[in-house]
Amino acid sequence: MKTPGAMTKPQTGLIGLGTMGAALALNIAEKGFPIAVWNRTTSVTHAFKAGAGPLADRITPTDTLADLVAAMAAPRAIVLMVPAGPTVDDMLAALAPLLSADDLVIDAGNANFHDTNRRTAQGLPFRFMGIGVSGGEEGARHGPAIMAGGTPEDWTRMAPVFRAIAAKAEDGTPCADYMGQAGAGHFVKSVHNGIEYADMQMIAEVYGVMRDGLGLTAPEIAPVFARWNEGALRSYLVEISAAVAAATDPIKGGALLDMIVDAAGQKGTGRWTAIEAQNLAAPIPVIEAAVMARNVSSRRGERAAGEVLYGPAPTRADLSLDDLEHALIAGKILCYAQGFAMMTAAATDFGWALGMPAIARVWRAGCIIRSAMLNDMATALAAHPGQNLILAPFFADHLRRSLPSLRRVVAAGALNGLGLPALSAGLAWFDLMRTARGTANMIQGQRDFFGLHGFQRLDGQDYPHGPWADHEATVSATP
Ligand code: NDP
Repeated sequence: MKTPGAMTKPQTGLIGLGTMGAALALNIAEKGFPIAVWNRTTSVTHAFKAGAGPLADRITPTDTLADLVAAMAAPRAIVLMVPAGPTVDDMLAALAPLLSADDLVIDAGNANFHDTNRRTAQGLPFRFMGIGVSGGEEGARHGPAIMAGGTPEDWTRMAPVFRAIAAKAEDGTPCADYMGQAGAGHFVKSVHNGIEYADMQMIAEVYGVMRDGLGLTAPEIAPVFARWNEGALRSYLVEISAAVAAATDPIKGGALLDMIVDAAGQKGTGRWTAIEAQNLAAPIPVIEAAVMARNVSSRRGERAAGEVLYGPAPTRADLSLDDLEHALIAGKILCYAQGFAMMTAAATDFGWALGMPAIARVWRAGCIIRSAMLNDMATALAAHPGQNLILAPFFADHLRRSLPSLRRVVAAGALNGLGLPALSAGLAWFDLMRTARGTANMIQGQRDFFGLHGFQRLDGQDYPHGPWADHEATVSATP
């Protein structure tokens, strides 16, 4: 990219001045890059320029896609910030006759990475990259986390812009990095969103124990989250949970949290992560539980009928706030260990670069899951490449201290009818992961019994079937 300047013809453009696009365009302009913009609804484009204040002289509004292209200097880089799915394909098709081979289109929306792989492979008449952008409107405006996919050359070309607009970690490092070819950036963003679901679900579960198990009110819960935000759990999501619990209902007074309907929506990225984990045979039960819990949350009628039929859960758990804090610490470590292991599997499967320490570093600021713990994760992942995070000494120490609390919380939830799917899933996965002699020998025996699938023996002897093999025909015929 050329050196930015106020009067230079822009090399950067942006399509889609919605919530994210408008914020991102202002961020790009603010960092000194003149930008041409286009929006489907033209009035939005002009209102955007009119509302851009001191940044307006760096913004070139355009009324048609042809105008957008003509207003820019080659080689162009055009950011797409439109709804994921067919709209992106439509925009790429509309741009195809207007752009040259050196121009670059950057899909910055929440694309399914399979779509980004397909678009990369389809032979577009211009360069194309897909980037994951996290941090919501505030992040887009003042510094998102950026997970870039595409060719290394296009990353190098765009890195000055991405690094300038990205959030900066406490050590000053920009939270923008290269993840790998094609859909790698959108894949990592998808896993980020899956972890986001899981972090939110575990916080909601612990909130539920405080509310239903310990009988605390929302104003009593708020300072607990605020206090936790001073320690190992320091993170954006714990911080905003304190603010959400503290808020007063502006209409009726009282705690606003108690007025909010308990049905959570989703746009699909968490679900994509769960589906892809199944494709990769990579266990991410905490994220899967979080997706499941959102789906259950929307079944309000059935849940109400269930409560009438079975009675309300017996509550009043015998737990300390310290137990809850440590259960959340353990759950978080287990969830991230699963997420990083899934990305390691994807790196192998798709042939992507995907440096795990780099991903942890990119997530340290700007994005929704930013947290203090990601610093330590980046260090541990760099020190023990390819190793599961639960085996890294730093996190093993953390887990040894916090697991007894997680066990007490999960046990109390089970005994008292408090649903804790994500925390329970994390613990069950951990107990499988720390057991050298598991129980799949029984499954292998069963599989050999009914399907002659064979099995390996612990002593290495060559005796691949059980004694039932001779009777297999008789047994199969038995109803
Ligand atoms: P908005 O709904 O606020 O804006 C959508 C934009 O796309 C508008 O500019 C709209 O133009 C344009 N658009 C919609 N349909 C079409 C179409 N058929 N053809 C051309 N333009 C169209 O969405 P967001 O800004 O929230 O999201 C944009 C992308 O960013 C999505 O992929 C989203 O998943 C992703 N994202 C969103 C985050 C968030 O927190 N909101 C966080 C991270 C990523 P018009 O004004 O004419 O309607």
